This record gives sequence, C-alpha cells and structure tokens, in this order.
Amino acid sequence: MAKNKEQDELSKAFLETLDEDDPFGLNEEIKVLIFKCLDCGKEDEVPEYVVEEFHFDLKENEEVEVVCPFCNGPMRRARKDPSE
Ligand SMILES: [Zn+2]
Repeated sequence: MAKNKEQDELSKAFLETLDEDDPFGLNEEIKVLIFKCLDCGKEDEVPEYVVEEFHFDLKENEEVEVVCPFCNGPMRRARKDPSE
C-alpha cells in the first residue's frame, strides 16, 4: 500500500508544519526533496522546508546532510533534476 504510506508521510509533514509559524499556506502542497544515503544507497524524501532549515546552519558551498533512517549514515540530496 505505497499510496497509504505516502499519505501518512504527507500527513506527518503537514502536522509538523503546523508546529512552525506556518511557513506555507495550509492549502499549499508540501514539496519534498529526495535524499540518498552515501552508505547504503537508499533514498528518502525530506520536506523542502526541513532542508531549508538545515541550510541556515551551513555556509554557501556546504551541502545539507541528513541522517539515514535505515543505517544512520549520512544522506545527501540526490540530484536528478538537471535544472538544479
Ligand atoms: Zn543508509
């Protein structure tokens, strides 16, 4: 039931958004970015606003790194979109 899982994650991200000072309008679709683990190669979706928060702690040329939920390794943004 991949669809249900997706729905769950959206709901979760949605609830997390409610804890923020509403960075987006509530009817806005939450954009997610794909991160890929450097250790195990698995991919995970991270809401864009979370990634943006990570960016505040970084210098311009540093990449956002999150922790892999599968192996606790470092995950970096997967670059699939040639426009970025
Ligand atoms: Zn991993």
